[in-house]
Amino acid sequence: MPEPNPPIALLAELTHRCPLMCPYCSNPLELVQKQQELTTDTWTRVFREAADIGVLQLHLSGGEPASRRDIVELTAAAHAAGLYTNLITSGIGLTQARLAALVNAGLDHVQLSLQGARPEMADRIGGYKGGYDRKMRVAELVTDAGLPLTLNAVMHRQNLADLGQTLDLALSMGARRIEVACVQFHGWATRNRASLLPTESQVEQLKKDIAIARDTYRNRMAIDFVPPDYYSDFPKACMGGWGSTGLVVSPAGQVMPCHAADSIPGLAFESVADRHLGEIWRSSHAFNAYRGTDWLPQPCQSCERRDVDFGGCRCQAAALAADPGATDPVCRKSPYRPKVDAMIEDMTSRASASDLTYRKFG
Ligand code: SF4
Ligand code: SF4
Repeated sequence: MPEPNPPIALLAELTHRCPLMCPYCSNPLELVQKQQELTTDTWTRVFREAADIGVLQLHLSGGEPASRRDIVELTAAAHAAGLYTNLITSGIGLTQARLAALVNAGLDHVQLSLQGARPEMADRIGGYKGGYDRKMRVAELVTDAGLPLTLNAVMHRQNLADLGQTLDLALSMGARRIEVACVQFHGWATRNRASLLPTESQVEQLKKDIAIARDTYRNRMAIDFVPPDYYSDFPKACMGGWGSTGLVVSPAGQVMPCHAADSIPGLAFESVADRHLGEIWRSSHAFNAYRGTDWLPQPCQSCERRDVDFGGCRCQAAALAADPGATDPVCRKSPYRPKVDAMIEDMTSRASASDLTYRKFG
């Protein structure tokens, strides 16, 4: 196996603790407890190791990264290691003083999640009363501090009609960029597919609305769009290709090629507690299992898109085909595609809108 290129980005899931309980959370169903989390010293070492192997961008995520008491210390450690540091947050737990300390520590960017464009929707989806108002205040603090702000709006069957309101709100909050991300069915979201999976007509309308919005907001706010799982003819490349550009460290120190990879049965992930991050990146079995294209099954092996999507998402193959080494079942060329179509039909024709399973420990 040839030496892989260095990774560009590290997603550090500092904790699974979070004051919110979003039913689409991509965290695993079995959440890491506080006492299992890596220490400040270990994370500091991991950030240095990441910079040493070529990582440029660090995404401090969770759960809610501000639930870590040492978030300012960790940000300072990342900055000292020379990493561009992005805080991915719900905003809950960020006060004016804390944000000022983060800016002093060298924080470069904030990505704020938006659970809804209206208070009642946001608070219902986040399972946190008053969360919307606190988030609006945090957005003000972020822009007052001169930090660039990106909003992350997860769209699903229950809020797709609010797209226009969501974009207007993002602009009024001072966001330079918004990521309109259709819910991805990993972790807790899989429990809520029947309530969150958009219908085909919603998806068609959304694509048209996004194209119009990009024109409307041109030069004022960039709009990134993550299309919905299951509706494409061909899959997305998983993380730009498994083990090719980025890596994820879980709150307990497991190093994974993507944030949902621990849903794949039979794949063991090494820990930063035992080995240098660079050694894990280069030689761990979990990274090499689906790296490149040699491992691809048919029809991928002889497909003209094999260097474009690398056979799609391994977690999706594990979840929908019970085989992580299969062609992504979403692909029109996959023998499992009829199963996906039947599942869409089933999921979009049942369950009431209020039927949500919220993310929680235990
Ligand atoms: S998706 Fe919601 S519950 Fe999950 S980490 Fe983000 S804010 Fe917390
Ligand atoms: S057959 Fe494989 S490589 Fe070709 S489009 Fe489908 S998933 Fe991608």
